[in-house]
Amino acid sequence: MAETRDTVILGSGCAGLTAAIYSARANLKPLVLEGHEPGGQLSITSLVENFPGWPEGIQGPELIDNMKRQATRFGAEFQLAHLEKVELGAHPFRLHTSAGEVHTRTLIIASGASARWLGLPSEQALIGHGVSSCATCDGFFFRGKEVGVVGGGDSAMEEALFLTRFASKVTLLHRRPTFRASKIMLERAMAHPNIEFRTNCVIDEVLGVEEKEVKGIKLRDVVTGMTEDLRLDGLFLGIGHEPNAKAFAGQIDLDDDGYVLTRENILTTRKGLVIPGVYACGDVQDRKYRQAITAAGTGCMAALEAEKYLEEHGR
Ligand code: NAP
Repeated sequence: MAETRDTVILGSGCAGLTAAIYSARANLKPLVLEGHEPGGQLSITSLVENFPGWPEGIQGPELIDNMKRQATRFGAEFQLAHLEKVELGAHPFRLHTSAGEVHTRTLIIASGASARWLGLPSEQALIGHGVSSCATCDGFFFRGKEVGVVGGGDSAMEEALFLTRFASKVTLLHRRPTFRASKIMLERAMAHPNIEFRTNCVIDEVLGVEEKEVKGIKLRDVVTGMTEDLRLDGLFLGIGHEPNAKAFAGQIDLDDDGYVLTRENILTTRKGLVIPGVYACGDVQDRKYRQAITAAGTGCMAALEAEKYLEEHGR
């Protein structure tokens, strides 16, 4: 017989952990399923400089660890498991997880978003052999080497800047002439003597599949159509993220890119009608702001709504 909980939280990033702190303090004894990437994106970030309260900044993993300890202190329980299937038609909702089945009266979806890949077979073959989506995790292996970073947003700038600590040269590769990155990040990257910018270019192939290590890339100029081989020892993807909501397809409303559609930021819907007891917060539902502090904010809102729902239903 599956256990029935008051609140289950899917995901242990900034949104999930904030929801866990609030619902644990409300005595709901939330169960947090930590998901495929425990700690979420902050756990693979370096210095977080814009989270209020740390004037000198705080390392992402430390911030996450603090939040987890805070939630645990109030009674949140954590399980290293991920969602495989969900049945929202029944109430309590039924969750089939990698650790078994659990039922819950309220569900907080905080499953976040995962790094996006180019999707080239050569790129996929070389993940872990010089291709990476996480400079903080893998940058160390490229001391004195030459690496490329793909993307034109803040993630790409951040990765490029971080990699200058190790690599002798970083080439930033972007498919357009203009950037999405914030002015401050772009200017920092552009001012760095070890970062070279290449715009209007796309990667057709990552070289080195036979050798099982990145040897370079086949680069195409999208204006002239000319191709060239660029020698590189590593390639980092900084091209954004995809929401982790596939398990919910058909059960709650998702937008065209798979983000959870919400009302009032956190209320989930099915065919446009609000589903009572199911909330979404953080990057899985936010394609606009995607900041640690906004994820925390919606995590708090989701927990407060879950608490209100349970109270209204006699818990
Ligand atoms: P983003 O802003 O969506 O930028 C993604 C970049 O990747 C874009 O330049 C995009 O090119 C490019 N791209 C996407 N798919 C591609 C493909 N298949 N091939 C080549 N290029 C591709 O994502 P992000 O940089 O991850 O940032 C997301 C949010 O997090 C933003 O709000 C950002 O401010 C925030 N963030 C903040 C910080 C910080 O403040 N320290 C750090 C990281 C992220 P196009 O421009 O041509 O679409």
